[in-house]
Amino acid sequence: MGKCLIIGCGGVASVAIHKCVQNSEVFDEIMIASRTKSKCDALKEKLDGTSSTKIRTAKVDADNVDELIALINDFKPDVVLNLALPYQDLTIMDACLATKTNYVDTANYEPEDTAKFEYKWQWEYRGRFKEAGITALLGSGFDPGVTGVFSAYALKHEFDEINYIDILDCNAGDHGYPFATNFNPEINIREVSANGSYWESGHWVETKPMEIKRVYDFPEIGKRDMYLLHHEEIESLALNIPGIKRIRFFMTFGESYLTHLRCLEDVGMTSIEPIEFEGKKIVPLQFLKAVLPDPASLGPRTVGKTNIGCIFRGKKDGKDKTYYLYNVCDHQECYREVGSQAVSYTTGVPAMIGAMMIMTGKWNKPGVYNIEEFDPDPFMDALNKWGLPWQESRDPELVD
Ligand code: NDP
Repeated sequence: MGKCLIIGCGGVASVAIHKCVQNSEVFDEIMIASRTKSKCDALKEKLDGTSSTKIRTAKVDADNVDELIALINDFKPDVVLNLALPYQDLTIMDACLATKTNYVDTANYEPEDTAKFEYKWQWEYRGRFKEAGITALLGSGFDPGVTGVFSAYALKHEFDEINYIDILDCNAGDHGYPFATNFNPEINIREVSANGSYWESGHWVETKPMEIKRVYDFPEIGKRDMYLLHHEEIESLALNIPGIKRIRFFMTFGESYLTHLRCLEDVGMTSIEPIEFEGKKIVPLQFLKAVLPDPASLGPRTVGKTNIGCIFRGKKDGKDKTYYLYNVCDHQECYREVGSQAVSYTTGVPAMIGAMMIMTGKWNKPGVYNIEEFDPDPFMDALNKWGLPWQESRDPELVD
């Protein structure tokens, strides 16, 4: 059916690439382009010949718009799937605009020197993408991503009005290390050491990092401590779900993770302010990333499950209603299938599906859109087909 250019070749990209190759009916040809070409070549070698998808590789610096434009003009993809880091979102969007190519990503733009992620920078491209007749699909991972699709699905099929959404992200995986992050450590630590916030009655309520704690009994996992975090899909869902009164996001963390994080913060290792070290400027958090285990290496060691989903409360036919949609994913099953743990898997599968929605024409809508602004039904079907089946409960435990 078409061609997809995948930028980045880390944990999430590796899963998305496996899935594109499995889905050769849609992905005739893919190009894997990243900063370290040897990683792209190793993946090509592993996957070549496992399906009819043709695989090419290239080296690209995604901070450089001209390099990206040259690559896109050479390969002429139907869609660019951005699985590099949030810092590259705008340069890749610029290159897509210049070449009139559709765009998909999984995380919103964040300037490298300020740990502040929000959609305003990418939403500013709305008019230009519309004029160019191309679609940008923002946030096609799990959270953001599937959580937005779940919200659109609940609104379409289960509710007349959704008033409350609690997004619960539980990773009960155990990798055996005292401290490691399940995806890019720099992005992960920037996210969890920031202030928390939630949306209530039309405005943001800010909390201190990890200030709000709850215990939740997750289906197929059991009781876990979870903490309120700021998360990017809250910003778009607050605009796109009519009648919404409150949206909160909770993520589980174990005691060992939090104790290590606190110590690292206390000694300044999570800072993004450059310091002078032996005549060279280094960013402590980037140095920390270099000494922590590579998330891609956690796959074989991680056992247990993830459970990510949304609890909705609202009204149907004048009556109060509660509805919980979630996915449970097993780290070892993911590893057996694609050689990665479940955190990369639960992001890489929706990334492939987002690209597929655009390549098959199901989600073509010139402009820049968040995932909940599209028809959720074909995406929900694809989740069941491509490895992230969802489950529902009409009587879930609620979060107070
Ligand atoms: P990794 O660090 O494993 O991979 C990032 C990849 O991007 C690496 O291959 C890296 O190259 C490449 N890269 C970085 N900078 C550049 C550049 N300037 N030019 C070209 N390539 C570059 O990260 P993850 O796979 O864990 O995460 C990928 C994305 O997914 C992130 O944006 C993250 O925020 C997002 N994410 C989204 C989630 C969701 O649910 N929505 C959940 C988890 C992650 P190199 O190999 O040389 O370092």
